[in-house]
Amino acid sequence: MSAPTLTPMMAQYQAMRRSLPDDVLLLYRLGDFYEMFFDDAKTAAPILNVALTKRNAVPMCGVPYHAADAYIAKLVRAGKRVAIAEQTSEPSPGKIVQREIARIISAGSIIESHLLDDQRPNYLAAVFLLGKSRGLACVDHSTGEFTVAEFADQAQLDDELARLTPSELLISDEQLSGFGHLPAAQPYDGYAFLPDPARQMLCDHFSVHSLDGFGCADAPSAVAAAGAILHYLVHQLRRPCDHLRSLKMRENGRHVLIDAASQRNLDLIDSRSGKKHTLLGVLDRTKTPMGARLLRDWILHPLRDREPLDKRHDFIAALLEQPFILSKCRESLQGIRDIERTVGRLSQGAGNARDLQALAISLGHIPALQEDLGCLGVPHAKGLRAFPDLVDHLQVSLAEEPPANLKDGGMIRDGHSPELDELRSLSRDGKSWIAKLQEDERKRTGIDSLKVKFNNVFGYFIEITSSKLAKVPDDYTRKQTMANCERYITPALKEMENKVLGAEERAKQLEYELFLQLRLEVCKELEALQHTAAAIAEIDVLCGLAETAQTHGHVRPVLEDSRHLVITNGRHPVLEQTLVEEKFVPNDTTFDPADSLLQILTGPNMAGKSTYIRQVALITLMAQTGAFVPAENAVVGMVDRIFCRVGASDDLSRGQSTFMVEMNETALILNHATDRSLVILDEIGRGTATFDGLSIAWAVAEHLHDVIGCRTLFATHYHELTDLANTRAAVANFNVAVREWNDEIIFLRKILPGAADKSYGIQVARLAGLPKPIIERAKSILSHLELNSAKPDAKKQGPKAKNMKQGQDQDGMPAANAPQLDLFGEF
Ligand code: ADP
Ligand code: MG
Repeated sequence: MSAPTLTPMMAQYQAMRRSLPDDVLLLYRLGDFYEMFFDDAKTAAPILNVALTKRNAVPMCGVPYHAADAYIAKLVRAGKRVAIAEQTSEPSPGKIVQREIARIISAGSIIESHLLDDQRPNYLAAVFLLGKSRGLACVDHSTGEFTVAEFADQAQLDDELARLTPSELLISDEQLSGFGHLPAAQPYDGYAFLPDPARQMLCDHFSVHSLDGFGCADAPSAVAAAGAILHYLVHQLRRPCDHLRSLKMRENGRHVLIDAASQRNLDLIDSRSGKKHTLLGVLDRTKTPMGARLLRDWILHPLRDREPLDKRHDFIAALLEQPFILSKCRESLQGIRDIERTVGRLSQGAGNARDLQALAISLGHIPALQEDLGCLGVPHAKGLRAFPDLVDHLQVSLAEEPPANLKDGGMIRDGHSPELDELRSLSRDGKSWIAKLQEDERKRTGIDSLKVKFNNVFGYFIEITSSKLAKVPDDYTRKQTMANCERYITPALKEMENKVLGAEERAKQLEYELFLQLRLEVCKELEALQHTAAAIAEIDVLCGLAETAQTHGHVRPVLEDSRHLVITNGRHPVLEQTLVEEKFVPNDTTFDPADSLLQILTGPNMAGKSTYIRQVALITLMAQTGAFVPAENAVVGMVDRIFCRVGASDDLSRGQSTFMVEMNETALILNHATDRSLVILDEIGRGTATFDGLSIAWAVAEHLHDVIGCRTLFATHYHELTDLANTRAAVANFNVAVREWNDEIIFLRKILPGAADKSYGIQVARLAGLPKPIIERAKSILSHLELNSAKPDAKKQGPKAKNMKQGQDQDGMPAANAPQLDLFGEF
C-alpha cells in the first residue's frame, strides 16, 4: 500500500497489524462488525464462508460482532490464531476511535467455555532439546494446570504427546529440525527457550528463588520448555497468568508407559466406533467435568507405585461397603459444576456473574459431601474446603438469575447494596412517574389516544395522533413529525428522564463495580479453590469408579510386586457392555514365571483371540489406574509398561506400509520391554509372506521369552509357533474352543490349554456369507492340499507341513482327537 492513501483508521490498523506475528488474523472492530483486511481477509473469507469484498482496492471481509463467537470458533478450529481489536473510546465526530488488542485467541489457550470440550483438557505444550534430554511442558490455560517432564528419547516424547494431544505445540525456531514431524507444532522465538532466562522468568512468575520446590531442579530441558510457554502466554498472547500457581513434574518412572500405538490398539480413549466403545467410555461415571478430565488422565497415566493405588482401591471399597453414602456423595457431586475452569476464567479477568453463581452453587454442595466422606472412615483427597463465607457473600449479593452480560445490570440482588437500591428506586419511581404522566396528560388534554413512549434517539416523548393536534397544550415542545402523529416533550418529562436514565446508568456502573469486587474476592482464594477443585475431581473419579464397579460387578484387584498375573473369570470391560447378540463368556488367565510367561494363543478367526488378549491388558491397566476390575478375582503383579501390537492385516486404516509400521512397533517393544512389562501381540508378522512372517514371529517370541522374560500373550495364526512350548520352559499354549456341528462352526469363546488343531477358515468364510459353490470348491481344494502335504515329513517344522497335518478326513472334518469340547459337553 502506498502511504498517501492511508486513512487515519487504516494507519491505526496497520500499526496494530505490524505488532502481531504474521500468521495471527486481526479482527478489527468497526461499529457492529469485526473486519479483516488484506491477506487476513483472503485467508479468513473461505474458512468463514463469508464474502470477500474490496474497498479502495483493499480486500476485506467482516462478521457481525454479536455472532463473532461462532466465527472465531471456526477460525480457531481451522488452526488459526485470532487477535481481537476492540474499540476503547466512544465514537465522536472528527476523532478517530481508539482501539486495542483485547486478546489473542489460539487453540492452545482457549478459556471460552463454548470453544472447549468440558470432557477433556486443552493443552498448550512446548518441547526443548538440551543435550540428549527432551523437555516437555504443558499448560491447560483454562484450569491453570502446568506440568513438565523430561524424556530420554524421541519415542517416549512422541508417546506422551499422543496421550496429551496438545492443541498447540511450541518449538524453538532454532530446533525445528530436531524433533521430526510433530502435530500442531509452531515455531517460537528461540530466545524464550534459553534455559537461564526461562528459569528466571518462571522464578519471577512464581516468586521463588529456585524451582527445586517443584521437583524440577534437575530438569533443565523441561524448565526451558516451561519458560517458553510462559513467555508465549504473557508476551505474545498477552494473557494474564495469575492462575498458573505451580509447576508439577511428571516423573515417567511413576507411570505405566503406554505408547501411542498401544493406546490406540487398546481403545483406551478413542475408538473408531465412538467413546462408548472405549475403556474411558465404560468407566466414566463421573458427575463433574473435572472428574471426567481427571479419569482420562488416570487411564493414560496408570501408576506403578502401590501406595497411591492401594489408597484408591481402599476408597472405592469403602464406598461399596456403604452404597448409601456412595449415592449421597454422587448426589452432591451432581450439583457441582466446572469449578476448575470457572475459577480459571474469573482469575484471568474474564467470566461473568453466572460464573460466580455457578461457583457459589458448586461450593454450596461441599459441606454435605464432606460430611458423607467423613462417614467413610478412609482418608480422601486433601484440599477439599467449603468456603462458607465466600458462598454466603456470593449468595446474598447475586441476583437469582444473573445475566451473562456484565454491563447491562441485573447481576446484583435487591437489598444487597443500599446505594444500588437507591439508584434502582430512583429509576423505578421515575418510571412510574412517567407511566402516570400518560394518564394525567390524557385527563388534562382530553386526548384519549395520547401516549408516552421511549426510544433510544429521543428518549421519552409524548405522541399525539394528527387528528388531535388542535388539543395540544402550549407547554409541549414539538420534536418530530411522523406520518400520522407528532412527538412532543415537556420540561418536566425531560427532567424526569434525566433522573431515570442517569440513575439507571449509575446503577449499571455500580453493579459492574460490585461484580468486580466479588470476582476479586474469589481470586483471593484462587489457590485454595484450585486445590478444592482438584480434590473434587479425585473424589468424583473414585465415586464414579465405585459406581461402575457396582453396576458391572467389578472386584478389587490384589496388587503384587511379582511377575504373576492370575485372573479368574475375567471379562473384557468394554465388549461385555456392548455385546448385543451373545452373552460375554468369561475366561481365566494365569501367568507364572515358572511355566507360563509366554502364552501362545491359537484358534480360528472370529473365535475371540483378540478380545481375550486385550482383556488381560485392560484388566492389568485398570488395576493400576486404581479401578476395580471385571473379574471374579484378580491378582496383578504390577507392570511397568504395557505394549499392545496388532498385526498389519488387522489394521487396515494405517496406509500402505503397514508391515513397516508393524515392524517399527515390534522393534520398539524389543528395545523397551523389561521383565516387568506386559506384551500383547496380535497376529504380528502377517504383513509379509508366510515364511518371512513366521520367522519373524518366531524370533520375536524367542527373544521375549529367553532374553526379556516379560509376560507375553501372543495370538497367532502360525500354528508352528506352538512348538516353542516343547523346548522352552515358560511357554504355554492355549486355544479358543470351537465346536463343529454339521459343517458349521460354533464359537465357544473359552480359552483352553493346548494348541488349536486347525484354522476353520472355510467355516468362518461360510459364516461371512461366501457363496455356497465357492465354499464347496475351497473344501475340496483344502482336502487335496492336506492329502498331498500330509505325506512327506510332517514332523519337520515348516508352515505347510505343520498347518495341514490334521484333518485328513475327506469331508474336511477334524480328527477325532482334536482338542475341542465335546458337542454335548459343558459350555
Ligand atoms: P479373533 O481375534 O479370534 O478373530 P475376536 O477377538 O476379534 O476374534 O472376536 C470376534 C468376535 O467374537 C467379537 O467381536 C465378539 O463379538 C465375539 N467375542 C469374542 N470374545 C468373546 C467372549 N469372551 N464372549 C462373547 N463373545 C466374544
Ligand atoms: Mg483377531
